[in-house]
Amino acid sequence: MSRSLPTPSKISLPFWESCKAENMQIQRCEDCGTYAFYPVYICPECASRKLAWTPVSGRGTIHTFTIAAKSSFDSDEPLVVALIELEEGAMMVSNVKTATPETLSIGSPVRLTYEKVSDEITLPMFEPA
Ligand SMILES: [Zn+2]
Repeated sequence: MSRSLPTPSKISLPFWESCKAENMQIQRCEDCGTYAFYPVYICPECASRKLAWTPVSGRGTIHTFTIAAKSSFDSDEPLVVALIELEEGAMMVSNVKTATPETLSIGSPVRLTYEKVSDEITLPMFEPA
């Protein structure tokens, strides 16, 4: 069973390029300071179009999560699908890599890591901090 990979679009390309460089960037509104994810053309808070790609700290917390019985890719580890709240305030659906998902809880600190899955795509992932 192969994993379906995201296809970078014009608006999301800078995001995927930053992940490939293992220096993830998301958009920050230069007018109100809101961080946005997924990529947007206008700020969801103030409708400004002045959005700048900005590196993130890589720190976040688990907002909600669910544990799938087994990951669909080449691993025996259970797959944790989580909504991560980045320190910057943006929310991101991702995976938490851990052999002990039972130790995770809402509010658990996580840090950003990367998993290269193809020449084009490196996925942002998280692990317990
Ligand atoms: Zn704004």
